[in-house]
Amino acid sequence: MEDNNLTQRIPRIGQNGGIDAGKLTLALDWEIARKKKKNILREVIKHIQNGWPKKIINAEVKPYYLCRLQLSVENGCVMRGHKVVIPGSLRHRILTELHTSHMGIVKTKAEARSRCWFPGLDDALENMISSCEVCMQLRPTPPRTPVCPWEYPPQPFYRVHLDFLGPLNGRMYLVLVDAYSKWLEVYEMASTTTSAVIERMYEYMSRYGLPHTVVTDNGTNFCSQEFLNFCALNGISHITSPAYHPASNGQAEAYVKIVKRGIKTCLLSSTNARENKLRLYKYVFDYRNSVHSTTGMSPAQLVFGRKLRSRLDLMNPRSPPSPSSASLTDYVLSKQCTQSKTKGGKVRNFELGQVIMYKKYLVNNKYTWCKGVILKRIGKNVYIVKDFKSSIQLKRHSEQLFSCKTKCGASQTWADDLSGSIAPTVASPATGMMSSPCDDSSGIGPHTHDEESATEEREEESGRTGISSACDNQPNRESPEPSHVTVTRGVRRPAQSEDSEEGDLFFEAEEASLEPQNIREPRFPKRNRPRVNYRQFY
Ligand SMILES: [Zn+2]
Repeated sequence: MEDNNLTQRIPRIGQNGGIDAGKLTLALDWEIARKKKKNILREVIKHIQNGWPKKIINAEVKPYYLCRLQLSVENGCVMRGHKVVIPGSLRHRILTELHTSHMGIVKTKAEARSRCWFPGLDDALENMISSCEVCMQLRPTPPRTPVCPWEYPPQPFYRVHLDFLGPLNGRMYLVLVDAYSKWLEVYEMASTTTSAVIERMYEYMSRYGLPHTVVTDNGTNFCSQEFLNFCALNGISHITSPAYHPASNGQAEAYVKIVKRGIKTCLLSSTNARENKLRLYKYVFDYRNSVHSTTGMSPAQLVFGRKLRSRLDLMNPRSPPSPSSASLTDYVLSKQCTQSKTKGGKVRNFELGQVIMYKKYLVNNKYTWCKGVILKRIGKNVYIVKDFKSSIQLKRHSEQLFSCKTKCGASQTWADDLSGSIAPTVASPATGMMSSPCDDSSGIGPHTHDEESATEEREEESGRTGISSACDNQPNRESPEPSHVTVTRGVRRPAQSEDSEEGDLFFEAEEASLEPQNIREPRFPKRNRPRVNYRQFY
């Protein structure tokens, strides 16, 4: 009868902590435990049957005393209401049975509270579940810890965060973020090997110097021996974020998200790779010029001390750049004067309408001297020259000119020529070079020079090394209307003679259209390349 009652109350508890086939032996176990008499429950049962004393000495009995009104004895088992009070020797088995399915702590507690009780039941359950190895293995990721910001570096490009972005449309990008200024660099990478990363790092360092610290993730290209050697060689401390915890490299990770969004917008609005690249440049430019929420300043301001000039500056007609410091300006001027004196040379001025010989360039940087007339002075040493024969207008430096003197030694002028005192130049059909009567008087014939000999000759003539300063192209204050001329330096001529048929066609087309307010050097024919509207950038 006793066994039957217990079977009804605790139907699932088995002898081995598992489920037996319908019959449980807990009652017998409970009886055994009760007979051991170290059992607290013996004293409890005595108090239940005989009445509770006013004062309890045994601390282990006190919990039962507190709920004494709910306690009863049924079939030799102590009951608290409808729950069985579990003896100490059986508690581990009961707890194990309750956690057989490795339910969470809340559900296990609820199940336990509905069926049994003993002092400290909740604590015992929590201890058991928290130490359960099966549950620990399947434990979800603990909640996020508060963000621990990186220490703010003392100067720009002190600590740099690196990360890869991509692939986006088959392209990979290397993102570098300066922790101080938030200055952003994005490199499109043809390869993601360590060598490619190091090459980009050298490019980066050539602009901004060697960083003290580099922070990366645990990518193989950052953790290879080659990269470690590179860092050691340059005195760079290399910090890697914990594996699979990219938030530790948060600076670059956040920027990767930002750049990824920016690049995606570029891809959506661009039609080819070249335009895509330019739009990326534009995006990075705008980012560098925008105020960063953390620093309250733009990266450009923190790096250069000023905002980068952008197209938006064109809105303000009065936005001159802030002047250099007076001391620096004076220093540069004094240096320029010193250099000018050291280099020597003499100032040569040409009059408007003066007939001169100018350098006419042929194939392979060879040239000949041709006769022309000074049309306009557009800089201290730069003139617009009109060819005597073809009336083509060209721009020449004073070092590319010399005065054409008559046989009597007087300088020849355009007026003299118009009056017919000097015969027009004659083009040699064999060489295409010009010759004129004044060639003899000048001592320099229509010879073709190579560049080396030409330089030597020029140095002999001018007595200086031929260094041209920036002020050569500065508008001549004495000359009227100088400011409309656009000076294009470093533009190589096409590999053909100015006298060749194709060249003539091209240059005549270009130069015949020259107006005094828009005189430009001839340019290459444009290649077939994707047209990009540069005006929308910068
Ligand atoms: Zn478990």
